[in-house]
Amino acid sequence: MFEKGYIDENYVRIPKDELFSFVVEVLTKLGVPREDAEIVADNLIMADLRGIESHGVQRLKRYVDGILSGGINLRPNIRIVREGVSYALIDGDEGLGQVVGYKAMKLAIKKAKESGIGVVAVRNSNHYGIAGYYALMAAEEGMIGISMTNSRPLVAPTGGVERFLGTNPIALAAPTKDKPFLLDMATSVVPIGKLEVYRRKGKPIPEGWAIDREGNITTDVEKVFNGGALLPLGGFGELFGGHKGYGLSVMVDILAGILSGGTWSRHVKNTSEKHSEVDHFFMAINIEAFVPLEEFKEKMSRMIEELKSSRKHKDFDRIWIHGEKGFLTMETRLKIGIPIYKKVLEELNEIAEMVGVEKLKIKG
Ligand code: NDP
Repeated sequence: MFEKGYIDENYVRIPKDELFSFVVEVLTKLGVPREDAEIVADNLIMADLRGIESHGVQRLKRYVDGILSGGINLRPNIRIVREGVSYALIDGDEGLGQVVGYKAMKLAIKKAKESGIGVVAVRNSNHYGIAGYYALMAAEEGMIGISMTNSRPLVAPTGGVERFLGTNPIALAAPTKDKPFLLDMATSVVPIGKLEVYRRKGKPIPEGWAIDREGNITTDVEKVFNGGALLPLGGFGELFGGHKGYGLSVMVDILAGILSGGTWSRHVKNTSEKHSEVDHFFMAINIEAFVPLEEFKEKMSRMIEELKSSRKHKDFDRIWIHGEKGFLTMETRLKIGIPIYKKVLEELNEIAEMVGVEKLKIKG
């Protein structure tokens, strides 16, 4: 059974349904409508199932803090500000990012069914979790799905040392005859959540992920948290294409932030703070409007087969397709449970105690 990441004795396994109910119970206790709590839980647990520990239930604390500080509006008036047959602009009214994102992508899919394409820009939302969640919603409907969001400043532009850009993720999903293709990535070398995982484990980060406050490449995670910055995808300088990751990040700020009438990542705040001003961008492309869906899926699957059977490097025993490791990890974890780092479990149980829901139990 394949599983992404390295799981050791510091983790415990929790069945998916148990974790899902736990998140829903915590959020409803805090006043989130059940239907909305289920959307958030689905998003966080999909991250854990797919092996994206950095964006799974370890983030619950941040949402709880956002709710307690009043930064998240629990009863938002998520409204369409402008609309045409194939586009819409939504104001998220500072609701939970997952709820705003889910509704916005649903609208993009509806518009794509009617007119071939649906583009929805969103302003005034909050952290929406994994970008791939929304892209997959479109792929499940036989469409290509694109999802992006800006996020708080953590990344230095090429040539700079200041945190200016967000880790601004981009996701694209497309159906195949089997599981969808799913590219879901931060536009920085790594998202900040990965550094949080290293920090929690007390490990140095690999060289090339981040710089300290003076701009030196560092492996000391504390130096990054203490005024340093992440590097854009491609890394330091221009040699390995850092300027291209920097450009992709700005692209997200243009589509999600400026197009929506929102802002750019430098002005975005943490979800645990008030007025985080997170903006998103969603697109659904109805494949049938261009080519028959079956032809598209057939070609996607053939391309993937050709990719996977192309000549391998001596140091690699296989070529992966984007999304493949995540789907395999999900199959494994649905059977044996989701690994939760013990310190995260403690944190989750502290939240449980605080809000008054039953704690998660460790079995076996
Ligand atoms: P990864 O580097 O883990 O993966 C990026 C993509 O590459 C995934 O589609 C992954 O598929 C794929 N992949 C991994 N290994 C290979 C390989 N050898 N060959 C081909 N494809 C491969 O993602 P990131 O760490 O950059 O991002 C993690 C998550 O964080 C994302 O879900 C992103 O949306 C989220 N994020 C959210 C932010 C927010 O503000 N809301 C900010 C930044 C990031 P697979 O899943 O199958 O491994």
